[in-house]
Amino acid sequence: MSDCLFCKIAAGEIPSKEAYADDELYAFHDISPQAPVHVLLIPRRHIGSLNEASEDDQALLGRLLLTGQKLAAELGIAEGGYRLVNNCGADGGQTVHHLHVHLLGGRGLTWPPG
Ligand code: 5GP
Ligand code: ZN
Repeated sequence: MSDCLFCKIAAGEIPSKEAYADDELYAFHDISPQAPVHVLLIPRRHIGSLNEASEDDQALLGRLLLTGQKLAAELGIAEGGYRLVNNCGADGGQTVHHLHVHLLGGRGLTWPPG
């Protein structure tokens, strides 16, 4: 989608601090980190939210989680623990309408979320 912030970030049209990249996925450090490690993992293809994903996206969705797992290890938070979060829609707190998974860690995270 041409006017989508995360499509532009994935395409390199808007700069970001890369954490991981392949043909299908891109991961980058959040501009406003909420924990010592705060990375966003996105599909390169525009999917507006989890509500817009389908059965055809099963492998892609699995890869987002497993890439989060690998990044957690690379960034040194696997052992201490971390959280992978998808905010979906207004009540879910989604502000950027391109599917993304937050990888948060490096400190104790509270539960339940606000
Ligand atoms: P959401 O609230 O939609 O789940 O998460 C969107 C996230 O994108 C927020 O944590 C926000 O800080 C991050 N974000 C918004 N704009 C930018 C940007 O231009 N660059 C980066 N790296 N992160 C951004
Ligand atoms: Zn997009």
